[in-house]
Amino acid sequence: MSGAGGFRSIAIVGLGLLGGSIGLAVREYLPGVRTTGFDLSPAHRARAAERGLVDRVCDDAADAVREADCVIFCVPPGAMGESALAVADAVRADAVVSDVGSCKVSVAKALSDALPGRHVIPAHPVAGTENSGPDAGFASLFQGRWCIVTPPADVDAAKLAALTSFWEAIGAKVELMDAAHHDRVLAVTSHLPHLIAYTIVGTASDLEEVTQSEVIKYSAGGFRDFTRIAASDPTMWRDVFLSNREAVLEMLQRFSEDLTALQKAIRVGDGATLFDHFTRTRAIRRSIIEMGQDDARPDFGRKH
Ligand code: NAP
Repeated sequence: MSGAGGFRSIAIVGLGLLGGSIGLAVREYLPGVRTTGFDLSPAHRARAAERGLVDRVCDDAADAVREADCVIFCVPPGAMGESALAVADAVRADAVVSDVGSCKVSVAKALSDALPGRHVIPAHPVAGTENSGPDAGFASLFQGRWCIVTPPADVDAAKLAALTSFWEAIGAKVELMDAAHHDRVLAVTSHLPHLIAYTIVGTASDLEEVTQSEVIKYSAGGFRDFTRIAASDPTMWRDVFLSNREAVLEMLQRFSEDLTALQKAIRVGDGATLFDHFTRTRAIRRSIIEMGQDDARPDFGRKH
């Protein structure tokens, strides 16, 4: 192995937002590393070739992975198993097999079941946008973002080091985590917020006494920030909720209890409870900005 990330040749299966961004990031930050790619959609393959997301777009998944010393699955969580099975005979025995899936316990199982005996080291870059497909990717997506790697207990230390260096080379900060813990953390930081956004946008559009045009016209009151999240890819998010069901349901239970407490505070006129709660949440926003995880400018730096 050679190069800053340790790999000579990286195969990307699924050339959408995440896969395309990895390909472009390798071109930008690891120019000596070759990339191959495959996507089930012929239209996405054609567009990926036009945009140069990888050095070589293959029409056959096995061709894409055959020479790679690292194969990264960038398909929706529910498609990880089948996409890995499709290349099971072609993946090199010494290759690192990884992914970018938003849920780790279910995806780790799907990859290990499809590729028994291989070096499966799951990962989740906590970076993304509401866009998807081969036009969505960009090289700087992972700059300054966390990539959570969830190695199995018997991981090969050299392979783990290579994967870690790879993510660092394309701009990410790496954290190692137990897969089940990852799923609980992401249930509250990502999956539940998406569920809430999907719900509130649906609720607003179903209201009879408020027109759609009013909802859109006055969206700057807070609603539009939910609409960005609620515009996220339906396939991926269906799979996330089905794959991380237990952790999401547990966090949803906690959320419902806390929401009921605030509902009661409003009903009984308990301003102190509301004020204390909102003061605590404001501090969390400040911590996120201090850690460089969001824009410090008011209203996300939007031009007014
Ligand atoms: P995306 O833009 O929709 O890209 C996924 C690509 O994989 C699509 O082109 C899709 O084609 C293709 N595909 C589906 N099934 C396939 C298969 N069996 N074999 C080969 N290609 C297949 O989605 P994404 O946002 O990059 O998400 C990919 C993964 O990244 C997901 O596991 C997600 O959990 C994870 N992730 C996403 C984000 C985010 O913000 N979006 C952030 C971190 C991690 P079709 O569209 O034709 O099905």
